Amino acid sequence: MTSAYHGRSTRSFKRLRARVLEESSICWLCGQPGADTVDHIVPLSLAPELGEAASNMAAAHRSCNSRKGARLASSVRSLPSSRSW
Ligand SMILES: [Zn+2]
Repeated sequence: MTSAYHGRSTRSFKRLRARVLEESSICWLCGQPGADTVDHIVPLSLAPELGEAASNMAAAHRSCNSRKGARLASSVRSLPSSRSW
């Protein structure tokens, strides 16, 4: 099972995570409130440069996050990326 954190525990990441949860605690995976963690919308394996980008983070339940695993949500393709093709 893949963790969304990849061992990241920097101060800036913690602050970013807190900010994301403050703005919205609606889980982007199931649509219910009460998310307790944040997920990377585009996995770090695909876009490591977005690892600390707020635009790539969304609130998620820990359980939903682990259920998702490494699968990509179908909406990923329409999300903004730093690359312009
Ligand atoms: Zn959820």
